Order: sequence, then C-alpha cells, then structure tokens
Amino acid sequence: MPNALVAGNWKMHGTAASAAQLASQLARQWADADAAEVIVFPPAVHIATVASVLVESSVAIGAQNLSQFESGAFTGEISAAMLVDLGCKYVLVGHSERRTVFGESSHCVAEKFVAAQAAGLIPILCVGETLQQRQQGQTMTVVADQIAAVVEQAGLDRVCDGVIAYEPVWAIGTGETASPQQAQQVHQGIRAQLGDAGIDTSLLYGGSVNGDNARQLFGQPDINGGLVGGASLEADSFLNIAQQLIEQQ
Ligand code: PEP
Repeated sequence: MPNALVAGNWKMHGTAASAAQLASQLARQWADADAAEVIVFPPAVHIATVASVLVESSVAIGAQNLSQFESGAFTGEISAAMLVDLGCKYVLVGHSERRTVFGESSHCVAEKFVAAQAAGLIPILCVGETLQQRQQGQTMTVVADQIAAVVEQAGLDRVCDGVIAYEPVWAIGTGETASPQQAQQVHQGIRAQLGDAGIDTSLLYGGSVNGDNARQLFGQPDINGGLVGGASLEADSFLNIAQQLIEQQ
C-alpha cells in the first residue's frame, strides 16, 4: 500500500524567524506520523534552522532542489550529501518552476533523481503538462515522457522507490485545480506506466490544493497525497489538508 504523504513546498518565502515559527507550530500540532507523513520543504538557507526545530517531531524535512553533481567546483550548488547532513529525508526533483524558469531538462532531472537516491534521499519527481499541452491533448504523453526519461537513467525499480507528484503546470499557484476526475485519470495512467513495480509507489497531486478541494482529490483511488505550495505557508491550513488525507485513506 502506498504511503500517504502531504508535502509543503515553501518555495522562496520567509525569514529564518518565520520559518522556525511555522515549523514549531507544525511540530506542536502534528503527531499522527503513522497515518500520514507530513513533510516541509523550506528554502535551502532555512533547512538547518527548521531541522533543529523539527528534531524529535513527527514532521519530516526535505529540500526543494539539489545538484546532480556529487561535489567539486560547482559554485552555488548544494549536493545530496549536504542535504542528508542537514537532516533532509526527501528532495523535490524537477518541480515545474525548475523546469520552466531555470531550464532544467528531463535529462538533468533524471541525473538529480539518481544523485538523490545515491545519497539516501527519497526524491519526489514532479511531472505535469502546460495548459497548451493539455489543450492539444498531449497530457498523458508529456507526463509519460517525463517519467520515461528518469526510468531510462535510474531504472524502473528505482523510480518506483521514489515518489511521483503530478502537478499540472496550469494549476500551480494559479488557484485553478485539476478536477478530481482529471487528476485521477493522469494518476491512473502513471500507475499503469509503472506496472507491478509501482503498486506501492506514492503518487501525489499538486496544484492549488487547499482545504476546500483536498477531500475530493484525496478520495480518488490513485491519489496518495498532495504537494502543496501556497496553503502550506500557514500551519492550520496545511494540517487541515493533512487531516483530510487521513480521513480519505
Ligand atoms: C507547488 O509549489 O508545487 C504547488 C503545487 O503550489 P500551489 O499549491 O501554490 O499551487
């Protein structure tokens, strides 16, 4: 059975003080780690601060990005081993903002996926189509190609050991959400692509998840949790989403 996960992507928001405050609210209010894993992804400069607040709590920590390289002359980059050293368990790989704003190719995303697992991190591979691709009927092909690029480098079993987040680009940060049926259709396609090896792989939906739409999305058979941006910046709204996930399991 796939693990139920709710991941909060804080993106480039907050100060060290506000990150510590949000983390301490989550640590105080969340104790149900057996029912669902709650993970936060602070900006890299706040990971150490947040990790020190979350130590011994039921909330896990991850990074929003990593370098595909192990170490060396790569100015400004952060390696997988450094993230492990800071206490990270997870890392986002191929978030649409990395792909579109920073030009990460599917090949680069696959290298990062491999680097993350080699260091012991659990990568959350983000995939999803643009509005134009959806309108042109290319959703399933785009998503399947993004996954296939990682399978080519990492192998199917290793991809299935990670987590996959389906995030339609047109729904991220826009307030527009895929309908539960639209999301389920893509999740079902991903599950089919992974085959038997992916029966236990956690598949998350992301794209303007909030307290009003979480229940229906999480009620779909192939949706095992959510990757949440805006609604993860406030403890009550984020944990309300986590609570709704538990109730739908
Ligand atoms: C995200 O950052 O991956 C995301 C889904 O953001 P939002 O929930 O704000 O759409």
